[in-house]
Amino acid sequence: MTANIRYKSRIPVKTAEDGTEEKQYVGFATLPNQVHRKSVKKGFDFTLMVAGESGMGKSTLVNSLFLTDLYKDRKLLNAEERIHQTVEIIKHTVDIEEKGVKLKLTIVDTPGFGDAVNNNECWKPITDYIDQQFEQYFRDESGLNRKNIQDNRVHCCLYFIPPFGHGLRPVDVEFMKALHEKVNIIPLIAKADCLTPNEIKKLKDRIREEIDKFGIKVYQFPECDSDEDEEFKQLDKELKECTPFAVIGSNTVVEARGQRVRGRLYPWGIVEVENQSHCDFVKLRNMLIRSHMHDLKDVTCDVHYENYRAQCIQEMTSKLAQDNRVDSPVPILPLSTPDVETEKLIKMKDEELKRMQEMLNKMQQQMHDKDQ
Ligand code: GDP
Repeated sequence: MTANIRYKSRIPVKTAEDGTEEKQYVGFATLPNQVHRKSVKKGFDFTLMVAGESGMGKSTLVNSLFLTDLYKDRKLLNAEERIHQTVEIIKHTVDIEEKGVKLKLTIVDTPGFGDAVNNNECWKPITDYIDQQFEQYFRDESGLNRKNIQDNRVHCCLYFIPPFGHGLRPVDVEFMKALHEKVNIIPLIAKADCLTPNEIKKLKDRIREEIDKFGIKVYQFPECDSDEDEEFKQLDKELKECTPFAVIGSNTVVEARGQRVRGRLYPWGIVEVENQSHCDFVKLRNMLIRSHMHDLKDVTCDVHYENYRAQCIQEMTSKLAQDNRVDSPVPILPLSTPDVETEKLIKMKDEELKRMQEMLNKMQQQMHDKDQ
């Protein structure tokens, strides 16, 4: 039996010479600082995927979000190339630093999606990519060098919905449904400067309805703690109400109201990317970078990756049970003497099974430890 005694971490109070009490602490109140220092030293990483038809403003938005030109070497394809191109996934990595905090940002671009004449299963290479990153992590985690695992799992997918339609297109529904169990999807209305505020409101309502109707599980913002202050609660409410974010991107700086801002210059006026009455860019950026980056990573790890891992373990277990058939009443004996090649194959298979068994034991032990 363990007694759960709550001590205050104060070492017996000493009386100072002038009669005042001196409190001495053990010192674990510095734990958050230690964690902070360690994390800052190690740096952070975040992998963001952008998906949607090409020409929807994906690269412009990413550049606007991270104030960097990630796409300077990009080769734009002509129409013919785009028609023949299947989905080719390109990864861009940049190290950004702000006030001494380093962020390794990886953008996974999925160009060409939706361009082809036949868009059947155009999300397949994307789901495969996400699974491959999970698989790699799963292998590394079960391997020997667990300390220096490179985490390439995709933490968030910004999905660009065209502003021109009346809601989601079948391809949007299918795409999001194919991905929603694997990655945090954040739907966006692209090029929101093409719509009036009223049209944006209608389109948002429609998209929200359809997301519900088709059972699409987009990223859910965590519940706001009841002890948060009123201002925080209000911001959180506004954030939740404004999804799907209507965004505008621009790679150019223009002069507006005497200031130089990121914007789009039209004959009739200027659209400012960071003006909250023009679009939800600032809300998206704050959410992604300031308030929810950690939660996006947590959900990736605790929900999406855990699903993948559980499924893998289940598949491995049933494969083992099938192949092993240890308690089979009839011993499976070869009918004739196997030749050298067959023996070699059997040996390899045995070794593979042994490896899988070991891996499985290890993982069950880890799960057991975690539950404890
Ligand atoms: P991607 O192929 O999805 O990466 O799209 P790009 O970022 O290359 O943008 C394609 C075109 O759309 C470019 O001419 C951009 O200047 C333009 N564009 C990008 N963002 C916006 C936007 O928010 N509104 C408008 N009207 N045009 C945009």
